[in-house]
Amino acid sequence: MLKSAPALDYDLLVIGGGITGVGIALDAASRGLKTILVEKHDFAYGTSSRSTKLIHGGLRYLKQLEFGLVKEVGSERAIVHNLAPHLVVPEKMLLPLSEKKGLGYWLTSIGLKIYDWLAGVKREDQRKMLTRLQTLKHEPLLRTDDVKGGAIYAEYRTDDARLTIEIAKAAHAHGAALLTYCQVADFVVKDEKVCGVDVLDVLTGSLFTLSATVVVNAAGPWVDTLRKKNSSLQGKRLHLTKGVHIVVAHGLFPVKQAIYFDVDDGRMIFAIPRGRVTYIGTTDTEYKEGLDEVVASREDVLYLLRAVNATFPSVNLQLEHVESSWAGLRPLIHEDGKSASELSRKDEIFESVSGLISIAGGKLTGYRKMAERVVNLVIDKHFENRKLKSCYTAAIKLPGALMDVAACKNYMQKLVEKEKLDRETARYLVENYGSQSQVILHLRKPNVDGQLQLLLAELNFCIRHELVLSLEDFCMRRTGLLFFNIQLVKKYLEPLLVEMQNTLSWSDQRTMTEKLVMQKRVEEASVFK
Ligand code: FAD
Repeated sequence: MLKSAPALDYDLLVIGGGITGVGIALDAASRGLKTILVEKHDFAYGTSSRSTKLIHGGLRYLKQLEFGLVKEVGSERAIVHNLAPHLVVPEKMLLPLSEKKGLGYWLTSIGLKIYDWLAGVKREDQRKMLTRLQTLKHEPLLRTDDVKGGAIYAEYRTDDARLTIEIAKAAHAHGAALLTYCQVADFVVKDEKVCGVDVLDVLTGSLFTLSATVVVNAAGPWVDTLRKKNSSLQGKRLHLTKGVHIVVAHGLFPVKQAIYFDVDDGRMIFAIPRGRVTYIGTTDTEYKEGLDEVVASREDVLYLLRAVNATFPSVNLQLEHVESSWAGLRPLIHEDGKSASELSRKDEIFESVSGLISIAGGKLTGYRKMAERVVNLVIDKHFENRKLKSCYTAAIKLPGALMDVAACKNYMQKLVEKEKLDRETARYLVENYGSQSQVILHLRKPNVDGQLQLLLAELNFCIRHELVLSLEDFCMRRTGLLFFNIQLVKKYLEPLLVEMQNTLSWSDQRTMTEKLVMQKRVEEASVFK
């Protein structure tokens, strides 16, 4: 990965290291464009580490009659799964049908049939309708007096930040230069056309300029901030809504599988088991505060707890049961008169008079198609005469990818037998790193014991291969530890800091700052005001 002095002239400069930006960088670099990506913080710092972590067809878009969107993201699921079968894992979703809420049995049955058809779901994975008794057998925690029946349908779960990182690594392998902790401070304009950007290196405070034939703004919730800087914030604008997830011990909310249930206010919520925890989300509320200070409020958390307790009455979750949380912003496109939940999740491309191309909206799931559309536009407008390849990202396997689900299982079994790992650790490694797990295991130091040994090996892998520059990068966006195992972050804060100080030659002052930042992140994730 790159954090060295970049060359100064590029064909394409991408602003933003979320899934949209890294997707564009991979597509452009693999077609032959000299590409650089500039990210102000870490990869996936924005919405791309704060989603529900599903690669999904978006059942709710069917309710909004957005057939085109369902078809596109529905068929993309299988492609993204194929690119990284270890990281995008099939997950059957249970949809309980209520007496009083939702679409009802027959409409849901027809809706899911259409969903499977639009998304081209394989016959064996197509929706299965369940009787009331079958539904309660699948999930005995459900409130019995309200269940009318249910359905099981196919989705995929992932780790959004890890998916973003692996796409960034693939982009780098295809020649893209990647800069993190570098903020685009302004645009360079010549003859009324954008031809580069001024960049602030956030870690050193130095300023430098990069030139590019085309600049693409893929800054997610910050897209309009940059359009404003470019004096091109006209017409359509972003409408930001906040989505919160909470995490509880799986023992306290032991759902047997992922479940998508109706709430009294007409919304739907996911509860997803993940190793030792279950996570629940999401809310969908208007957001007008600081874009870099998005956290879950007490009110957000209580809303989710009420929703769970109403549908699973024996569970009785309380505020003190919530171990951790995350909150993200949906960069949706504003439509007059529509509420947060009604807004379309479709992506849109805006072109300014000065040539800045901005892309907003969309889904994690549709990143590849969004990238293809943007790069097609860039080539049509600026590189029509250059001999470049057509988009082939559907065939670029991501780093660590194993052949298929069966190969992942075999690999996991090998780790259990040969490396003497317990099943949960083997599953964690394979689902996060795929075949790269072996490299991590080789980095284990003999003089360190147990859990810390593996954690330090993982940290060293991420520093060497994944551009980890702060403890927060590692705990939030490489491992998800802050969300899914916050106790481990608290327990091993000191040894992790010592390892980073030694490996990255941090001063004592820098190490102390890192410690304070990490403690703040722990508080933001687990204390609700
Ligand atoms: P971001 O990930 O926000 O990336 C933008 C990047 O630009 C940031 O990293 C930021 O630091 C950088 N940046 C900003 N300004 C500058 C600057 N001046 N210079 C340099 N860099 C800059 N989609 C799904 O498919 N499945 C789901 O399950 C799902 N669940 C969701 C749940 C929630 C609660 C939310 C909020 C969204 C969900 N989505 C889901 C949608 C999906 O997460 C987003 O569409 C996607 O992550 C947006 O990615 P992005 O790259 O456009 O934006």
